[in-house]
Amino acid sequence: MADFDDLIYVFGDDPALVAPVKKAMEEIYALPEGKAIFEEAHRLHSKFLTVYVDGKQDYPSGYEDKTHAIRVNPLAFKGYAFRTETGEKLPFCMVRALAHESEHAAHPDPLGLTEQYAKRLKTFQHEAARQARDFTYPKSSYTQQFITARSDPERLKQIYQDIFDNHYAPAVFSSFEWLRNQVIQDPTCKRYLDEIESPAIAFENLIMSKQGQPGRILDYAQAAVKKEVSPQLRSNWVADYVAFHIKRRDAFYAANGIKDDDSSIRW
Ligand SMILES: [Zn+2]
Repeated sequence: MADFDDLIYVFGDDPALVAPVKKAMEEIYALPEGKAIFEEAHRLHSKFLTVYVDGKQDYPSGYEDKTHAIRVNPLAFKGYAFRTETGEKLPFCMVRALAHESEHAAHPDPLGLTEQYAKRLKTFQHEAARQARDFTYPKSSYTQQFITARSDPERLKQIYQDIFDNHYAPAVFSSFEWLRNQVIQDPTCKRYLDEIESPAIAFENLIMSKQGQPGRILDYAQAAVKKEVSPQLRSNWVADYVAFHIKRRDAFYAANGIKDDDSSIRW
């Protein structure tokens, strides 16, 4: 009989993030159905299942077939909810997500549906990202704030946070909805959802039912709800824009022989 350590290897840079992931995997392993799924995953891939904990990843969890690894970020769960069979929206938990990914790890995909879906999704995501990037905001209403903040990176950060929350985040949400519609209408994606995602949801529901928790609807396209744009995306986006702003400003100053504290500048 295989032990936990023969079947599963949990690792990551931050012990505080690794601990809850390891605990959740142990909880799943403690159930007969959980242990059976890990044994099946091991049999299918002839090696242990890796769980890589990454606090910088901007989605909660996923399973990667080519490395036979689950990638998870405990910090990213906050932005998502799931829809129950009765239509309620509840927060995701670690056990649910890891049970879901573990089923993927144990589920053969001889037709390569995962890869076909990934290709289709990449095309749609590319277009959705372009839509989000093309977001607009009323630049003139920020001009005065930018002038006041020109030597104050903290203030600049606040301005870009405001632009993110009020203009960029809504663009991300609408591109997310657009993406969902493309996936639902695409026959290849639909087949992947039915044959690969629905069984994973059914398994997470089985594990969660042991803890008296409600089931998630099996229709994957409707089963996850984005509550907020991830804090990681927000802070990366803001940092990029502040850096770009400062670089552009410094180049402008250098080109015009202006010192940073020159109060005569109007722009
Ligand atoms: Zn899945």
